[in-house]
Amino acid sequence: MNPSVVTTSVLLSLGIITLASLPYEILLRRCPSERYRKLAAGIILTCCAVASMAIPVQAAPGVMFDLRHVFLILAASHGGLFAALLMAAATGLYRLYLGGAGVEAGLLGIAISATLGYVLARVFSGEKTSFGVLLVFGVAASLSTSSLLVLPFETVGALVQSGGVLLFAANLVGVVMTGHVLNRQQILLAREQALTEDATVDALTGLVNRRAFDRLAPDLIRASLAKNMPCALMLIDADHFKRINDTFGHAAGDLVLRSIAETLSNVARERRLVARFGGEEFAIVLPETSATDAEAFADEVRRAVASVRHDVRGLPLRVTVSVGVHTVTSPSETIMSAFQKADAALYRAKAGGRNQVQFARAA
Ligand code: GH3
Ligand code: MG
Ligand code: MG
Repeated sequence: MNPSVVTTSVLLSLGIITLASLPYEILLRRCPSERYRKLAAGIILTCCAVASMAIPVQAAPGVMFDLRHVFLILAASHGGLFAALLMAAATGLYRLYLGGAGVEAGLLGIAISATLGYVLARVFSGEKTSFGVLLVFGVAASLSTSSLLVLPFETVGALVQSGGVLLFAANLVGVVMTGHVLNRQQILLAREQALTEDATVDALTGLVNRRAFDRLAPDLIRASLAKNMPCALMLIDADHFKRINDTFGHAAGDLVLRSIAETLSNVARERRLVARFGGEEFAIVLPETSATDAEAFADEVRRAVASVRHDVRGLPLRVTVSVGVHTVTSPSETIMSAFQKADAALYRAKAGGRNQVQFARAA
């Protein structure tokens, strides 16, 4: 085997995984859970293994090899047991279909790599990204060559002479590069998801933040009006919150804000957009909700918050909120005017003594 065979085989495995990385990325993005992401990884890597078997590299006249072990060894660490089994079954069946003298050795090699890949995935679970770990997987990919021992001694001798070391190198480099491409995609996706969350979620309360609220609320209002249904908008402000900070400290204030957010989320349930609007202010959009239902809901919110006892340094602390509600009924009303009306109602709730709900007055 001459060194160009190694180059060819490494380029081949890299080419296959590069081609596969686009559908892999699309599937990763669309998969709603880790389970589906593993399924996607299993299917894509199995396609890669079968593709590599379909285009084997000629090591020496009459001696062919392919890079199935690169993918077999990585299957379990990216797709779990399912991927390892799927790939072993698919490559095994394909090897049977190809036939020839080395069928038994081929099947044994597939079983060895799939098993080793699974064992290593368990041993290095959560650490599949480091270069050192990839090297271990790379070395393991070549251990399947022990399956050659089921072949006649002369054949094994010829194979080893024709470049056992280079075959080892091809597997090693192939695994390191392929593993790196797969890891990189997962890392980039995770980073992108974390950034998206940072941009839309309020870090203290876990509610939707102001930026995301400003984007989502107008759509919800418009969608309700398009169905000829009103949409209620509610601004909620914690009463005398400054006193809590001044008396118990900012950290205690943070705890109370988190607790208020939790209460709002629990009362609002699905389909309602609950956001932290600013400091100790929150906003809720109630799609397809009449003024009467909004009134009942707003009072439920107010009572729910008032009923919670916050445990601050062992003291049972109660906090109340004031609520301003406006129900949008006309498509001609601008979002800004809707907010102004809810805010004016909130102002009256404060002026009226706090811990109460006020409704926007008709213009
Ligand atoms: P009012 O009933 O009129 O709303 O009185 P208030 O004290 O709640 O209103 P004011 O606007 O005077 O004070 C709001 C306080 O909320 C002051 C500010 O320190 C506090 N606050 C805003 N954001 C946070 C936060 O993230 N954490 C904590 N602990 N406090 C916050
Ligand atoms: Mg306040
Ligand atoms: Mg305020």
